[in-house]
Amino acid sequence: MVKNLDRCLFNEAKRYIAGGVNSPIRSFHSVGGAPIFIKSACGSKIYSEDGREFIDYCQSFGALILGHVHPEVVRELKEILGKGTSFGAPTILEYKLAKIIIEAIPSIERIRLTNSGTEAVMTAIRLSRAYTHRNKIIKFEGSYHGHADYFLSCPGVPADFKKHTLVAPYNNIEKVRELVERHKRDIAAIIVEPVAGNMGVVLPEEGFLEALREIADKHNIVLIFDEVITGFRLTFGSAQKIFKIRADLICLGKIIGGGLPIGAVGGKKEILELLAPVGPVYQAGTFSGNPISVTAGLATLRILSRYNPYKDLEVLTQNFCNEAREIAREYGFKIRINSIGSMFNIFFTDSKVNNYTLARTQDTGLFKRFYQGLLKEGIYFSPSGFEVNFLSTAHANRDIKKTLDALEKTFNYLRRG
Ligand code: PMP
Repeated sequence: MVKNLDRCLFNEAKRYIAGGVNSPIRSFHSVGGAPIFIKSACGSKIYSEDGREFIDYCQSFGALILGHVHPEVVRELKEILGKGTSFGAPTILEYKLAKIIIEAIPSIERIRLTNSGTEAVMTAIRLSRAYTHRNKIIKFEGSYHGHADYFLSCPGVPADFKKHTLVAPYNNIEKVRELVERHKRDIAAIIVEPVAGNMGVVLPEEGFLEALREIADKHNIVLIFDEVITGFRLTFGSAQKIFKIRADLICLGKIIGGGLPIGAVGGKKEILELLAPVGPVYQAGTFSGNPISVTAGLATLRILSRYNPYKDLEVLTQNFCNEAREIAREYGFKIRINSIGSMFNIFFTDSKVNNYTLARTQDTGLFKRFYQGLLKEGIYFSPSGFEVNFLSTAHANRDIKKTLDALEKTFNYLRRG
């Protein structure tokens, strides 16, 4: 076997692909070393090109809730593959998926499928601007809503675009009020992850989402829940069900595509029907609603609605988190584990984490060493202290046990320096 095959493959990939990866976080730049090249996967496990097995807590960054290659999803995919991959014409499958989503999320009256979460959010923002005839949006620091210009601050984004995006700290309603007061005649939308999942897991504090709803109502601002991660992750439907707040628009992705590329924006009929061909707002996609992604999504949602695994997933995740906290304490490490449903992450900090500033108090150097230690023990976490880990229905008690053993060994090794 080639020594350090991943390093060789990464070097080879870099000769052809910009940075060697097709999405930056995969490069392991946050955790050091070469990324693991994956050859195959099954259930809770992934297998590397050099034959190692890992328990996978990345699960395609949350796109998989049934684990890898669920037999029923694969069976349906095999069947549909023989019938065509994309037609550029409508199919029954598309409205079946739309129907199942709408039945699960009552605030969605109409929906439009896209190819990614990024596209879904772009459409939600365009719709909000068209609906309100305003330009500005409010987003929260540390949240990620895809890579559209107005969510990024990097070279290549014109300052003219950035000036329309106002940023408030997550959970800081005073700052939102201040921004709204200052710009109220020009705020089209407030976009929020009802549980933030891109600065680790950060939960909304009591009253935060309610206050956003109130402000949006008062000033005729469109409230967008970006549920690309949380949709069908925390319950069968939207996080709205858990927090009992209604958003005007909801962005979905990940789970509704059962592991294949997808996105969706849904909400009030009067907003969604501004979209062409009914209305004047343009949005389109060659592969939007393609039968492959839609079939995987339909199969996944049907299985989820049949088994309703959410309570079990939560219990398994809570047990894991409680034991992990205990082990860290035993070995003298100050950590915070934030978690909800089947999402969790470990911050190496002793401060509570309810916004991005506090998420950044974590010791990223220590996280790197922790991450590499876990990898050696066959545990694959999402490769950054700001990314979330996910359990799937394929994770069994023995996976959790093995992961806790690995944590113990890693903390022991880290303690010895
Ligand atoms: N919104 C949120 C909350 C996300 O977490 C992500 C991606 N992780 C996106 C939007 C963008 O989705 P995609 O990667 O499918 O474009």
